[in-house]
Amino acid sequence: MRRYRAAWALPIAGPPIEDALFAIDRGRIVSVGSDGGQADVELGSVVVLPGLVNSHTHIELSALAGRVAPAATMPQWVAELLVARRDAASGAGEAPEPEVNAAIERAIVDLRRHGTALVGDVSNTLATVDPLRQSPLAAVVFHEILGFNPSDADAAAARAADTIDLSGDGDVRVSLAAHAPYSVAPSLFEALRRVTAARDPDVPLTVHLAESAEELGFLADGRGPWRQLLERLGVWNPSWRPPACGSVEFLERVGWLDSRVVTVHGVQLQAVELAVLAQRGMTLVTCPRSNEWTGAGTPPVERFVEAGVRLAVGTDSLASAPDLNLFAELARLRALAPEVAASVFLAGATITGARALGWDNQFGTIEPGKRAALIAVALPATVVDVEEYLLSGIDASQIAWVEDVE
Ligand SMILES: [Zn+2]
Repeated sequence: MRRYRAAWALPIAGPPIEDALFAIDRGRIVSVGSDGGQADVELGSVVVLPGLVNSHTHIELSALAGRVAPAATMPQWVAELLVARRDAASGAGEAPEPEVNAAIERAIVDLRRHGTALVGDVSNTLATVDPLRQSPLAAVVFHEILGFNPSDADAAAARAADTIDLSGDGDVRVSLAAHAPYSVAPSLFEALRRVTAARDPDVPLTVHLAESAEELGFLADGRGPWRQLLERLGVWNPSWRPPACGSVEFLERVGWLDSRVVTVHGVQLQAVELAVLAQRGMTLVTCPRSNEWTGAGTPPVERFVEAGVRLAVGTDSLASAPDLNLFAELARLRALAPEVAASVFLAGATITGARALGWDNQFGTIEPGKRAALIAVALPATVVDVEEYLLSGIDASQIAWVEDVE
């Protein structure tokens, strides 16, 4: 067993502890507190906190970093993304895999450098599963399904279910995502819910929800840029009728309104819809820098918090964010919502995300028995409010993993 002393510890499960002493044994937290005693390792002027949880990213898109410019509207941004992905895939006869895989490897290193312990990663190809398994990160990889006009939704869902891997022996679990209400048929949403519930009723699922105003318009009357995109891609379903409801009501109708569903973005959600998510114990992942980049808009962060919804934090992919630094995402949240308590955002970047991903027995707080995946953030001598300081924009040079400190 090894005992560490730090100027501060942020257990998340309780208030910050000054002059903190904590003990680790064989990778597990044994104790944390403020009672004196001898330490084996003096960490000095740092705040120790749980490794962060990035609840929404697409690591496989990392090769698109800087290739899709910010757009005025989300449909414009998606059109640019599709061009960039097509160009990357055609690559003048060269196989794109080496570049894509190298970018995946770099992204994983970068996530770790920025203090990330656990990710919720969305993948169409599952190319990230093996690299994540070789890495120190824990993950839920959500195999993302699209299909607005499936010929056989049950068969498509059954094929998707075959990729689910919840085997306990690794730190990477594979579950499913439905892309969004405008790209996945109601019958496919329903079928995906059925096959996952049959497999394991507790498995987390995820969906992009109420990201853009165009999504609301599409659900209301079936028109607008998302319909045009589906038609252009040749996947429009002429027998589909608009549900004429909001995004949360849509989820309710297709059986996706329960606590295992991790909703992402919610930029367009109204207070009454957020209240429904809160009441069902559901999590909303906010990715404000991505929302601003893609033209989806600025998320109503204070509205999220006031509604009492479980609020987690993600960077989204490098196609719509400048980096995978969750501390930078926290700094953006602080700028957008100066009145919200710092502890709400810090919980969002740790235990709320861990709980949503089904990993809260191991990650998200400093508590006895949990994994000692802890980071130490260097503190300037002038800092008086450590929680607020962590929202001020921390970069990799300030972060060390406690296990690496000798
Ligand atoms: Zn996403």
